[in-house]
Amino acid sequence: MMTKPASSSFHESANVSKMQASSTLAAMQAAEALRAAGVTVFDFGAGEPDFDTPDNIKRAAEEAMRSGKTKYTPTGGTRLVQQAIIDFYEREFGAVYQRSEVMATSGGKQAIFNAVVSLINPGDEVLIAKPYWVTFPEVVVFAGGTPVYIETEETGFLLNAEQVERAITPRTKLIILNSPSNPSGRVIPPQEFERIMEVLVKRGVHVISDECYLRYVYPPAEVFSAASLPAELRSRLCIAGSFSKTYAMTGWRMGYALASPDWTKAMLKVQGHSTSNANSIAQSAAVEALNGSQDSVTAMLSEYTRRRGWLLAALAEIPGITCNEPEGAFYAFPSIKGLLGGELKTSGEFAQRLIEEEQTVVTDGAGFGAEGYLRISYATSMKQLQEGLLRIKRFVERLDQKAEARP
Ligand code: GLU
Repeated sequence: MMTKPASSSFHESANVSKMQASSTLAAMQAAEALRAAGVTVFDFGAGEPDFDTPDNIKRAAEEAMRSGKTKYTPTGGTRLVQQAIIDFYEREFGAVYQRSEVMATSGGKQAIFNAVVSLINPGDEVLIAKPYWVTFPEVVVFAGGTPVYIETEETGFLLNAEQVERAITPRTKLIILNSPSNPSGRVIPPQEFERIMEVLVKRGVHVISDECYLRYVYPPAEVFSAASLPAELRSRLCIAGSFSKTYAMTGWRMGYALASPDWTKAMLKVQGHSTSNANSIAQSAAVEALNGSQDSVTAMLSEYTRRRGWLLAALAEIPGITCNEPEGAFYAFPSIKGLLGGELKTSGEFAQRLIEEEQTVVTDGAGFGAEGYLRISYATSMKQLQEGLLRIKRFVERLDQKAEARP
């Protein structure tokens, strides 16, 4: 006999009910569900390196476990990991940070969460350029803030100082910058970044610079951190960083924040009552990641460079698809507007039909605030890319044929 499920007495809180679930994680889970059902999937959804974590980093974690580094650490991380982060920013960008300005976090996501909830009051406006990483607006909404979006389609998704200046109001408290950008891959040139920061300092706006893709930049674009700016431009800056992409460590959940001592103190309060500290073993691994050989980063960058070149050429051959050149990260963010309006009305419908008919997973642009676009991650093997792009092409050709056959 079938029993009726008991109706739930659970009602989510007002703060959480305003949040949308993560569409990037949903795309990853859709691919996973298909794989579990035995389907061969061509997966360009996940923003996750297909490389394994480098061996030297794994060995450091093994050693940490063997030597008993399995206990709580200080909330902001061990001295060693804090020092490794400070040293990295000094070595690479000439920036001087103190231990009171750095904390290790459980992934870059927790750094952003800590930074937003420790700053934002209800009614504060937070500037977010479109297209944005899906998590930015949701954290702002959770904190009671109001996301205010900056349209950047007219500049090929490249944010500039004029766009920022126009969007600032007396209620603007914060902007979240993300260069290289997830999802567009665009990189704000260093001089423009500095101009943006000058505007923000003049208007007293705080800044979170999400630098998760810091090291994956394709020449002639330049690797740039907001940490390299003069101190007067950094007084209201929080850098959020991650080990996930740079060192293929997504599952380890290791990130960090660099900010003023006051902002850091507030973030430590939030973290002290949520995760306590980043995973102790992952912290030891992160020390090796920063201080050890960087050969694996160079090797990954060179493979991403190869795939990027191939993917952009392959996309250019599909009628109806156009794509800005991404200078960083490992995403292409093509427009499929030329293919919509007939049988398929939205990029979400396109993505869904592509899974159903060609077992090919891409992430719908609407979740990033850019309806009509798709995000294709090339953090996947060349073989997968080649087969997947054939499938996308075949799918588009079928759409065209149906459109032509229509009276
Ligand atoms: N950041 C990656 C992405 O955008 C992983 C998923 C997530 O955390 O959003 O796909």
